[in-house]
Amino acid sequence: MDNSFQEIKEIYNGLIEYDYDISNLMTWKIGGKVRCIVFPEDESQILKLIKYVEKNNISYYIIGKDSNILFGNSYYNGLIIYLGKKFNSFKVLEKQDGYLITCSSGISLAELGKIAKDKVLTGLEFLSFIPGSLGGAIITNAEAHKQSIGDSILNVKVIENGMIKVYPKAICEFNYRSSIFENIQDLVILSVDLFLEKGSLDEILNKMVIAKEYRLKKQPKKPSAGSVFKNPDHVAAGKLVEDLGLKGLFKGDARISKIHGNFIINENHATSEDVLYLINIIKDKVNEIYDIYLKLEIKLFNI
Ligand SMILES: Cc1cc2nc3c(=O)[nH]c(=O)nc-3n(C[C@H](O)[C@H](O)[C@H](O)COP(=O)(O)OP(=O)(O)OC[C@H]3O[C@@H](n4cnc5c(N)ncnc54)[C@H](O)[C@@H]3O)c2cc1C
Repeated sequence: MDNSFQEIKEIYNGLIEYDYDISNLMTWKIGGKVRCIVFPEDESQILKLIKYVEKNNISYYIIGKDSNILFGNSYYNGLIIYLGKKFNSFKVLEKQDGYLITCSSGISLAELGKIAKDKVLTGLEFLSFIPGSLGGAIITNAEAHKQSIGDSILNVKVIENGMIKVYPKAICEFNYRSSIFENIQDLVILSVDLFLEKGSLDEILNKMVIAKEYRLKKQPKKPSAGSVFKNPDHVAAGKLVEDLGLKGLFKGDARISKIHGNFIINENHATSEDVLYLINIIKDKVNEIYDIYLKLEIKLFNI
């Protein structure tokens, strides 16, 4: 009998669950059971876990806040390292021309936005309504209203091939919904240095109101993972879906939102298969009619 998952408990010494229903954590509320999930609090726990799983050939996956993943409904016989719950410490240091903020990657963008607002720092106002963690935001260079997380980054500290490495911004390759980290296998973003400048409180609050109102008006409230596809050049993916008359199309409890064509919502008990079915319909139709190949913004896992 394989004891390696029970041994994780001893080497890691933190919150751990077995046969855990991951759908509880997903913003989409979709996903099956996972053999083991841990919620580390500090870097040393994460390093120990990575060394252990690599030595014992255990399959694992890093999750921030689960707001950009379609997680398959079948059983996942591996380890989930979930950073968006307890791995969220931060330090704020005043500099001559602004503030250096160093955060663990599991901190939520909402919390980060609050820290910035409280210190009257500008640069994160629009981002603070994105329901993800800082680590997840770095992976795809999260963006809203032309403000992207990469704009405020100084350095990103990661575990890569079992070693700690620091990426200065200049080599992070932050672009539209992408970064160098997207394509590196077995990478863990540990912490991030951000630099923010002093702003005006009125302007900061105003931008936050705009961001909040925009979301209330333009995005569905039902469970989703935000935009499913990256926008192709010069056109919004949601507009293509709308023009093709696909809004409202459903499979099981998954439905292409009537409010926003790039969102697929879970109306009750949608499965990963239901969502994939709709994704493929959109891809095929857009390709057939517009000769455009849509790329996924969301990540697929255990599918
Ligand atoms: C309602 C809604 C609105 C949204 N609006 C926006 C928006 O305006 N703009 C936007 O850009 N996005 C938006 N998103 C998408 C999503 O919230 C962002 O992409 C967010 O930054 C993802 O962060 P996360 O922590 O949830 O990542 P997760 O979903 O947990 O993970 C995403 C990917 O990153 C990897 N990952 C996460 N953390 C780490 C880490 N520390 N180290 C290594 N890999 C890691 C995961 O393995 C996975 O591949 C929206 C989502 C929802 C549900």
